[in-house]
Amino acid sequence: MSKHVREGDATDGADRGPVADPPPLRLDGVTKQYEGGGGTVTALNDVDFTVERGEVTAVMGPSGSGKSTMLNMLGLLDDPTTGSVELLGEPVAGLSAAERTDVRRERVGFVFQDFHLIPTLSAVENVRLPTRFLDDDYTERAVDLLTRVGLGDRLQHTPDELSGGQKQRVAIARSLINEPDVLLADEPTGNLDRDTGEAVLAEINVIAAGGVGVVAVTHDDLVGEYADRTVELVDGVLRG
Ligand code: ADP
Ligand code: MG
Repeated sequence: MSKHVREGDATDGADRGPVADPPPLRLDGVTKQYEGGGGTVTALNDVDFTVERGEVTAVMGPSGSGKSTMLNMLGLLDDPTTGSVELLGEPVAGLSAAERTDVRRERVGFVFQDFHLIPTLSAVENVRLPTRFLDDDYTERAVDLLTRVGLGDRLQHTPDELSGGQKQRVAIARSLINEPDVLLADEPTGNLDRDTGEAVLAEINVIAAGGVGVVAVTHDDLVGEYADRTVELVDGVLRG
């Protein structure tokens, strides 16, 4: 349970199954090397890491320490050089590209430092965008999620009509539209002032309390203050 969640805050995780379930995502001895003009860069070095449901983990590290690479591994966006990524206890190495895309869409939500919102779309349209190829209409769920993050009165606003913190909350609502097991956030407070960053982190804690496993990579100490667990990444080596 997240320490910053107030009693009475909404949760929707009551049906996520017993705690004995395998973790939604796990890195097992993951090493990632990039080959470039200057030689080989080891961005991750034998990293073991488990995403736990209902927990916010802050992965702290300076620029270049491998944070985005680690998120790319967890988000099945790239393959490790050695080691294995496991989804619900099963290695993902055997999945086809299409299967990975499905897994990502169904199980993983992403939040980025620069929000990645479509400027011409309203808040509601941005939030329901990931569902555009599905048969059902997700407008109602998009409205519910925006209301939950405090934007019920900004549904038709486009990104340029919203503050930084509001934009990040739209991005969080969008990341939850498919009811993910895992939320991966890359520098979620990077473009926010301290007060706004705190509001966004409090929201992320409420989401974790609903059963989602949250991993936030950052060099912002504030994220660590709001996390249940903090680990450190230094030159690709993870220290718990
Ligand atoms: P962080 O997100 O902590 O700033 P990154 O994961 O982006 O760190 O990068 C870790 C290291 O890997 C850095 O030294 C970076 O230069 C290198 N790197 C990242 N992506 C690539 C790439 N596509 N090709 C070559 N080197 C890369
Ligand atoms: Mg990065």
